Amino acid sequence: DTLPGLDNLVANTAYLKAQNINRDKLRDQWISLSLPKPRMSSDLQASVGRNYESLCEQQPIGKKLFQQFLLASNSQYMVATEFLQELSDWSFAEKEAREKAKQRILAKFFQPGSRSFVSYFTGEAAGICKGLSIKKFDEEMLDELREATRDLLRGKPFVEYLDSPFFYKFLQWKEYEKQKINDRYFYEFRTLGKGGFGEVCAVQVKHTGQMYACKKLDKRCLKKKGCERLALLEKRILEQVNSLFIVNLAYAYDNKNHLCLVMDLMNGGDLHFHIYELGERGMCMERVVYYAAQITTGILHLHTLDIVYRDMKPENVLLDAKGQCRLSDLGLAMELPKNKKVCQTAGTTDFREKVQNEEVTRRTLEDDCKFEHKNFNDSSKDLIRCFLKKKSVHRLGCRNVNDDPRDHVFFKSINFRRLEAGLVDPPWVPTSNVVYAKDTNRLMESSVVEYIQFEQRDEEFFKKFSTGAVSIQWQKEMINSGVFDHLNDKEDNCNGYNNESS
Ligand code: ADP
Ligand code: MG
Ligand code: MG
Repeated sequence: DTLPGLDNLVANTAYLKAQNINRDKLRDQWISLSLPKPRMSSDLQASVGRNYESLCEQQPIGKKLFQQFLLASNSQYMVATEFLQELSDWSFAEKEAREKAKQRILAKFFQPGSRSFVSYFTGEAAGICKGLSIKKFDEEMLDELREATRDLLRGKPFVEYLDSPFFYKFLQWKEYEKQKINDRYFYEFRTLGKGGFGEVCAVQVKHTGQMYACKKLDKRCLKKKGCERLALLEKRILEQVNSLFIVNLAYAYDNKNHLCLVMDLMNGGDLHFHIYELGERGMCMERVVYYAAQITTGILHLHTLDIVYRDMKPENVLLDAKGQCRLSDLGLAMELPKNKKVCQTAGTTDFREKVQNEEVTRRTLEDDCKFEHKNFNDSSKDLIRCFLKKKSVHRLGCRNVNDDPRDHVFFKSINFRRLEAGLVDPPWVPTSNVVYAKDTNRLMESSVVEYIQFEQRDEEFFKKFSTGAVSIQWQKEMINSGVFDHLNDKEDNCNGYNNESS
């Protein structure tokens, strides 16, 4: 046996080194890449659909190509897309920057002589424009103009886009997105944590250098415990959410022994590790408020999708490299059936471990919360009491239709609009060359699962799970790594496109 500390050191070094990718070396690999021809089959066209929001706003590559189309088309389309961009900058700016952004918008888009004057508005929106002066420049008006602009783009420009080489290119990217994913797509690094069905390790996409965490669910273990359905549920819920405060899924695939969920790498560690393993037990109030605000935002996002989380604990709240936190582990989450506002299964049938013993149930249903530690201030005690009310009609966030936990005095230092856009600096930032996880020797695989044979229906289930890349995350990866620009420049069939005549 080697020194246990040595194995850990080697694993950490490889993992940290991978995070400082050499961009030039990566680019050398791209020579062999090319966009596939879209099979103009009804299949692809149908799966891509004709939804404006999805094609031109939500999917990052779709949004880019639609913008490129608008910029190459007539000048009012160009003005419209620039106007939306500046509005978004303005809405997130603060103080002097906000005032400056406002002046810029007025000067650029609303001075009749300006090259970027917005002349495309009709009806009510045109009326608003006329009366727009610096004094009356309020949020509501701009919201209306923003909506009027989106309405315009959704009409004729969108139809023209679907017929343009830019959309053909989008279909090529969609074809590429459907590639089969297997182990060879990634390099694998150290284990970061352990879960009920296997380990979570760091991985890196070979051709983009993008780091992820891969949660491996042991197929035999799942089958033995009868938990296949839960694994599929976790995957299906994860692929629906796209939030800064929930760990996003980028790929789902399988290999011989595991179902793999490839997600955002949260290399700042989980909160359990921060509370109990680093320094003294606990953490400063500023961090508590910041994380609680992000967790609350994540939960509210899930609730808008009718998803209940049901697994809140420090181990499941993870920090990224910047020090922002996200909820992970949606293995116990469930989607409420349509028209239902509460979930009535109380979890017991779904909980896979017997954590739900009688004493815990009794305490949950009957006991008031006690604060043994003196560090709880009045607002944190009140927040916790309000969140843990036994009856949902008394609970913070559920007391009436306008009840919003973000309004609680505990969060008074948080600007949620900026927080939700990821613009509030974290109170604590992880050090880049530290690994915030237990040593690898403390995370060794312990349980050995006996031989289990798979049947036809198991294989069918694995197939349902292994759907490959998840659109939004994959497209982000292509853009951030530079592969998108590289391949677009390489085979530019949109060059010279000009739709000014229309
Ligand atoms: P389980 O459902 O079995 O509890 P989790 O999804 O909670 O599994 O993962 C187990 C542990 O692995 C977590 O507590 C955390 O320490 C680590 N982990 C999970 N997901 C990630 C991630 N995306 N990035 C970094 N570490 C992670
Ligand atoms: Mg967990
Ligand atoms: Mg879980």
